[in-house]
Amino acid sequence: PIQTTSKIWHNGNLIPWEKANIHVMSHVIHYGSSVFEGIRCYGQPSGAAVFRLPEHMQRLLDSAKIYRMPLPYSLDQLSSAVVDLVEANGVAPCYIRPIAFRGYGEIGVNPKHVPVEVYMANFPWGKYVAGDAADVCISSWQRLAPNTMPSLAKAGGNYLNSQLIRMEADANGYVEGIALDVNGYLSEGSGENLFLVRNGVLYTTPLANSVLSGITRDSVLTLARHFGIPVVEQAMPRELLYIADEVFFTGTAAEVTPIRSVDRIIVADGNPGPITKQLADEFFGIANGLRPDRYGWLTPVNVN
Ligand code: PMP
Repeated sequence: PIQTTSKIWHNGNLIPWEKANIHVMSHVIHYGSSVFEGIRCYGQPSGAAVFRLPEHMQRLLDSAKIYRMPLPYSLDQLSSAVVDLVEANGVAPCYIRPIAFRGYGEIGVNPKHVPVEVYMANFPWGKYVAGDAADVCISSWQRLAPNTMPSLAKAGGNYLNSQLIRMEADANGYVEGIALDVNGYLSEGSGENLFLVRNGVLYTTPLANSVLSGITRDSVLTLARHFGIPVVEQAMPRELLYIADEVFFTGTAAEVTPIRSVDRIIVADGNPGPITKQLADEFFGIANGLRPDRYGWLTPVNVN
């Protein structure tokens, strides 16, 4: 169950958690018409800080634009709202879930007279992918094909596909599934981007392979370039995972999660590899305020 907090942000106001309800005839319930974000706020040596807040809010605005959903808030207003919410609830570290959706007004897929509602909640949330290293499978479900549902939008409806991937993986005894794209190339996990290392080169799937433009993905690519690790974004076949030296997931929820096996084939010796460790240490070091915030990734919040 979700651990509740005191307040939820709704269209500019902080309202009680238990009052944040919507009507069953709201558009979003019937047609999945929402766009949302997942953001982490990390504890710091003193206080707390939200990780890459403007980048997340820009992606929310981008997702809304893709779906022709007018959001009456600027990047700055959305970012300040997150800070206000986290400070009002006084809960950190935490996970923050802003969501914009088509509300109550009319039914049918052309929502001309349906108001857009914006809510934000925050709550404590620990590890997303269980254990220190994940045993994963290739899913029998493919990721959204281009020209079906836009994968650059973080939209509610996309997560029906994610649920199929994750539930199938779970039913078969894996913690997560990796989907191929419509052409059979590697895409991503149900809620994580995918990386692999081979012969000292870091590979990840390009945006053209039906992936979300992950903010953790971008952070890891930035850190790899800082360390002088060669980075390649290219389409990759499934079997590259079987012969990789290292494989890992990235995501706000998953952070940097090493992958121990794919389809029961052990990755290298089954232990997290040196490049995964170097990138994870730097990622967690910056997020937790223990290493210099070279890129201005942290927005401090005042929580007691
Ligand atoms: N892909 C999908 C489908 C996701 O849901 C997520 C989580 N938002 C990611 C990748 C990772 O993105 P990020 O690092 O921005 O959380």
